[in-house]
Amino acid sequence: MRHQVCIIGGGPSGLLLALLLHRAGVDAVVLERRSRDYVLSRIRAGVLEQGLCDILRKAGVGARLDAEGFVHDGTLLVAHGRRLRVDFQETTGKTVTIYGQTEVTRDLYAELDRIGAKVIHEAEEVAIQDADTEAPYVLFTLNGEEKRVDCDYVAGCDGFHGVSRRTIPERLRQQFEHVYPFGWLGILSRTRPLQDELVYAGHERGFALCSMRNARLSRHYLQVPLTDTVEEWTDEAFWAELRRRLPPDLAEVLEIGPSIEKSIAPLRSFISEPMSWGRLFLAGDASHIVPPTGAKGLNLAASDVWYLSQALIARYAGEESLLRDYSAKALARVWKASRFSWAMTRLLHSFPAEGPFLARMQAAELEHLADSHAAQTSLAENYVGLPY
Ligand SMILES: Cc1cc2nc3c(=O)[nH]c(=O)nc-3n(C[C@H](O)[C@H](O)[C@H](O)COP(=O)(O)OP(=O)(O)OC[C@H]3O[C@@H](n4cnc5c(N)ncnc54)[C@H](O)[C@@H]3O)c2cc1C
Repeated sequence: MRHQVCIIGGGPSGLLLALLLHRAGVDAVVLERRSRDYVLSRIRAGVLEQGLCDILRKAGVGARLDAEGFVHDGTLLVAHGRRLRVDFQETTGKTVTIYGQTEVTRDLYAELDRIGAKVIHEAEEVAIQDADTEAPYVLFTLNGEEKRVDCDYVAGCDGFHGVSRRTIPERLRQQFEHVYPFGWLGILSRTRPLQDELVYAGHERGFALCSMRNARLSRHYLQVPLTDTVEEWTDEAFWAELRRRLPPDLAEVLEIGPSIEKSIAPLRSFISEPMSWGRLFLAGDASHIVPPTGAKGLNLAASDVWYLSQALIARYAGEESLLRDYSAKALARVWKASRFSWAMTRLLHSFPAEGPFLARMQAAELEHLADSHAAQTSLAENYVGLPY
């Protein structure tokens, strides 16, 4: 088969890219390793920057987001005896929207189906060939049969464990990585969210985040050692520990209930440069990972996809410079969002191995944040998303 663009990976990056390209008359096929049900069962991000919401609206998939998403004007930080609400709306004039990544993915699938775009599931042994030539192609197997897609360009949207990044020769790749000495234990429960906005809690026992997906669905997280397993954490133990890490008045009103999903994710910062090689272009987690503290993973995937879609559309209109500049442009934003995610992680987590100095630095930084409108504006500016 032949398509102008072959997209590897049907997560949010790949599906959004496919939709934006189709809208502009560029023909793209998506190859996804998993089944659709599997992709839709993954519980991941939930905080959408205004930039991502605007892209979804432009792509024609904003209706449910606008009807069901929760707009948040700010967030609450509680740590080192301080309680500080950062007001996004007042400091930056912008907001974030709570709407689950699963719902974004569902909306993208529905629209791609409606317009008849091709998404091939359970594509196995995907291999990108001749990406550094004028005629790349992709091999894969489907139901045991070998298939081939000839294309002009390949978009690697296959996440951290995919094949696309590793197709770029190792000698041409530079990788930057920071692994944090803990993970996040997350649970999803049919309980009322703690507050109308997210609560970030720094505590000497470890960080906690009280987040949500909707008015009756909460997503809460605890910082845990990397050695902990999900099986060790009963629901009772989770709720008891979360309560301990919250100020008493918040702990008291926390609604508890059985978990409907429970998982542990390790935290890392990772960036691979460049984001392109010949006619292969990487987007999203295929090229970078951030710790979730800054709520940037999905949002960075969206900015990559926006740059890449505009570059490919321009290329088919006869303008090649955007495609040439794609990697540098995307990486500039990736590094800034990675810095913010790293800084939020450093500010709010417990790092016992680093001794009391870091804890005092965290306290001093929170005090500065509380006293300085400029510091709050800077945090808010990064949280709602830098422009692109
Ligand atoms: C457990 C977890 C929790 C997270 N929580 C948050 C959060 O709270 N906030 C936040 O902002 N971000 C969070 N993230 C990050 C966010 O979900 C990602 O940044 C986002 O999913 C990136 O989208 P993507 O499409 O680039 O990659 P992915 O969502 O990883 O999608 C890649 C797709 O490619 C497919 N694929 C992989 N290999 C191949 C192959 N060889 N061939 C074909 N297809 C392949 C995969 O099956 C997958 O569907 C979380 C991530 C994880 C893993």
